[in-house]
Amino acid sequence: AKELKAGAVVFQAEEHVTAPSRLTVLGDLRRALEGDGELFLNYQPKYTLDGERIEGLEALLRWKHPTQGLIPPGDFIPAAEGTGIILRLTERVLDLALAQMRCWMDAGHAVPVAVNLSTRCLLDAGLPDLVQRLLTEHRVPAELLRLEVTESAVMGDAARCMAVLQRLHDLGVKLSIDDFGTGYTSMAHLRRLPVDELKIDRSFVLGMTTTAHDAVLVRTAIDLGHNLGLTVVAEGVEGAEHVTALRELGCDIAQGYHYARPMAGEQMSELLERVGT
Ligand code: C2E
Ligand code: CA
Ligand code: CA
Ligand code: CA
Repeated sequence: AKELKAGAVVFQAEEHVTAPSRLTVLGDLRRALEGDGELFLNYQPKYTLDGERIEGLEALLRWKHPTQGLIPPGDFIPAAEGTGIILRLTERVLDLALAQMRCWMDAGHAVPVAVNLSTRCLLDAGLPDLVQRLLTEHRVPAELLRLEVTESAVMGDAARCMAVLQRLHDLGVKLSIDDFGTGYTSMAHLRRLPVDELKIDRSFVLGMTTTAHDAVLVRTAIDLGHNLGLTVVAEGVEGAEHVTALRELGCDIAQGYHYARPMAGEQMSELLERVGT
C-alpha cells in the first residue's frame, strides 16, 4: 500500500507538470485558429533529378506565437492530434494552401502542392467532402493537390483509412506515402493503397553515402516504388553527393536543403517567376 501511495504521488506530480503546458498549447492554438496571421505556410520545392525542374511544392505549417515566437510543427501538431483541433488545423492548412495555389495559377504557375495529413484526419469520413468543397471554393483542379500520409497512419484502422483514401483518390487528388521506411508497410499493403508517390524518409537519405545499410534501403525503396508504378521522392537531400547517388539509382525527385529550405509564399512566388514551372 505504501508503494502504491508513493507511485500515486509521483503520478500526480508528473500530471501537474505536463497537463498545464499541453493545455496552454491547445488553448493558444484554438485562439490562433480564431484569427489569421499567426498560422501560415512555408513552401519547399521538389526538383526532378533529371533536369532539375521544380516538379511541385510541399506546404509546411508554421505558427508564430505572439509571445513565444516561431513554434515548430513538431511541438504542437502532436498535441493537436490528440484532440479534434487537428481537423480544424488541417482545414486551415488546406484553405491557405489552396488560396495560395489559386494566386499562383492566376500568375501562370499551375504548380502542384502537397499538404500533410495527420493519422487522425484519415479516420474522419467527412474529409473527402471537405477537400472537395475547398477545391471548388478556390477553383483549383484536384490534380494539383497532393496529400501526404505516413505509413503508420494507414496501419492503424486500415479499413476505415482505406475508404477515406479511396474517396480522396476518386476526387482526383494525388496521394503520397510520407516518411517511407520508418514504418512497417508490407509490400502487399502498399500495393493495395491508392497512392501515386513514395517519399523516402530523410534519415535514410542522410546516411546513404556513408552507411551501407542506408544505401541498400534507399535502393530497395526506389526499386519497390518503381515496380509498383509510383513516383519516388527522396527527402532531406542536403549534399551534392546525395544528388549524384540518387541519380545513379534512378530516383525521380529530390527535396531538401541542397536545393532550397522551406520559404514564405512570397519568396516562393519570386522563385517561380525566376525559374518557371
Ligand atoms: P515532414 O512531412 O517529413 O516534412 C519534412 C520536414 O523536413 C520539414 O520540417 C522540413 O523543413 C524538413 N526538411 C526539409 N529538407 C530538409 C533537409 O534537407 N534536411 C533536414 N534536416 N530537414 C529538412 P518541418 O517543417 O519542421 O515539419 C516537421 C513535420 O511536421 C513534417 O515532417 C510533418 O510531419 C509535420 N507537419 C508540417 N506541416 C504540417 C501540416 O500542415 N499538417 C500536419 N498534419 N503535419 C505537418
Ligand atoms: Ca511530408
Ligand atoms: Ca517526410
Ligand atoms: Ca517526417
